[in-house]
Amino acid sequence: MKSLKSAWVAALVMCMAMLSMSSVQLKAEELTEEQVQEGQQFVINNAIFILFHEAGHMLVSEFNLPVLGREEDAVDALSAVLLLGAEDEELNTTMQDAADGWFLLDEANEDGPQEDDFMGTHGLDRQRAYAIVCMMTGANAEFFKVFADSLEFPEERRQECVYEYQKARDSWMSLLAANMKEGAKTRFDVSYEPAGNEDLQGFADLLKSAGALETIATVFGEGYDLKDGIKITGKSCGVENAFWDPEAREITYCYEMAAFHADLIATWFANNQGTEEATGDDATSEDTDATAVKVKKKE
Ligand SMILES: [Zn+2]
Repeated sequence: MKSLKSAWVAALVMCMAMLSMSSVQLKAEELTEEQVQEGQQFVINNAIFILFHEAGHMLVSEFNLPVLGREEDAVDALSAVLLLGAEDEELNTTMQDAADGWFLLDEANEDGPQEDDFMGTHGLDRQRAYAIVCMMTGANAEFFKVFADSLEFPEERRQECVYEYQKARDSWMSLLAANMKEGAKTRFDVSYEPAGNEDLQGFADLLKSAGALETIATVFGEGYDLKDGIKITGKSCGVENAFWDPEAREITYCYEMAAFHADLIATWFANNQGTEEATGDDATSEDTDATAVKVKKKE
């Protein structure tokens, strides 16, 4: 089971031509070039969402912001507000991959949430997914309609989400306003440490070529009254995680997290091979790509 997954993951990161002929890898070869690209984008988009989340913790700690309710929920909302508020349509669709990321994580957890999860600092994976969907449809009901429809996200809830999104946006913006300064520039130190092994290095290279860490330096490097020298580091940590360290003033994104998301999407492709092909019509693929639905609600 594990080796099959690793083969799929490898196929996402490396060129498919590099695959040899074992039966497991032959399956990996069934990944189309489009799926490889989509999978890579999924990994990058989830990294960006998580980096925005960590940047939220950074703002709370650097500006000593008050947080009413759970900080984890609050910074998820900030990620959503900033990504959805961006003019860039690509950052808008990043949200879709982020929601799918949490749905897939939930589905991969076959035993369901445990007592520890209920006691934890974060919302449950599926709750985090729907919270993102709520922000999406609250921000732009039309743009995310196909996506929300595919999840059978109720109309009544969509109405409430308009208010919830506006409240989240206005609350964050009024808190941040006191810490914004016209023309302010902050120097971030971005680094991608060598991964130390070939598989993870593939993810380090992928994130680097997409400029994932640099996105944070760009977005938060202008207009925020932050002190220079905050580090944004990509590295192997031995664990699938990302975190903000207030003492070191450092956001760390672990390459293992990228490998984990690749694993999730590769498994999804493997399990949904037939359905993808059935809708493989070039004439409509451009329309559906903008609102591609990877995860459907369980019946
Ligand atoms: Zn967090």
